[in-house]
Amino acid sequence: MLEIINSVADIKQRIRDIKHRQLQIGFVPTMGALHEGHLSLIRKAKKENDVVVVSIFVNPLQFGECEDFDRYPRSFDYDCKVLSGEKVNILFNPDIPEMYPGHFCTSVVVEGLESKLCGASRPGHFRGVATVVLKFFHLIQPNIAYFGQKDIQQTIIIKRMVSDLDLDVKITVLPIVRDEDGLAISSRNTYLDDKERKKAICLYKALTRAQSLVNSGILQTDKIMREMKSVIKRYPVTNIDYISVVDQNTLEDVPIIKSGNIIALAVKIGNTRLIDNMVIRNYSIS
Ligand code: AMP
Repeated sequence: MLEIINSVADIKQRIRDIKHRQLQIGFVPTMGALHEGHLSLIRKAKKENDVVVVSIFVNPLQFGECEDFDRYPRSFDYDCKVLSGEKVNILFNPDIPEMYPGHFCTSVVVEGLESKLCGASRPGHFRGVATVVLKFFHLIQPNIAYFGQKDIQQTIIIKRMVSDLDLDVKITVLPIVRDEDGLAISSRNTYLDDKERKKAICLYKALTRAQSLVNSGILQTDKIMREMKSVIKRYPVTNIDYISVVDQNTLEDVPIIKSGNIIALAVKIGNTRLIDNMVIRNYSIS
């Protein structure tokens, strides 16, 4: 039976009981509108832990003024059915005042990393993410927390926060789940109309082009980025926010690509901003 908990007081009490019984907790934070990407994390968490806690919380702190907080897809009843089907133990679904009472004024800044890549066009986004994730970690005290490589900058920032603040949680990052044509699955894909959905494949096409360049020995990142740009330009009325090849620890641009580096991009298709990435591993890419 899926147990739904809405209040901070109740989740604290429930976690105290679970810890008392020395059970291992796996935690999957989400904003709901669940899809196969979320399910990959939940299934891994079920395999590795005694108790799985999933949170659904559309976190206002991580949305900018002009972003899509109001229209972000919400499908609570469907999500509950999915979570029950996956035999998730606890759904933590607080409302905004429960997470951020009127006097709330603390935030977590992972300096440097938060202003790179997506942070440049979404100022404050990663501050909102780090703040809510730290709150969740305190409330849920997971042994392992599961995140998707889809949001790779988020995983790097969370790992740095965990390390800097000596948090006692293991961060597991799982691969990007894609649609059949390669588009990374995202709750925001529902914003795309049919024409836009076809164009949305340009992110994956650009990444696979980069992959074949690297595999053929072209390692200069300016050449790789130029080629990626020209792939995307073949899909008219798409707007590139950024294409970057960066170091996996600092998120600084690198001139020559090396194993472990990340190729990341964000592209606007109509009004919908999509992101994707690949990690270079021994000059083959995952
Ligand atoms: P969200 O609900 O979009 O905040 O995502 C919750 C978690 O699911 C995050 O750790 C995401 O990185 C992860 N996630 C979202 N989409 C995918 C995907 N296509 N493949 C793998 N993980 C994903």
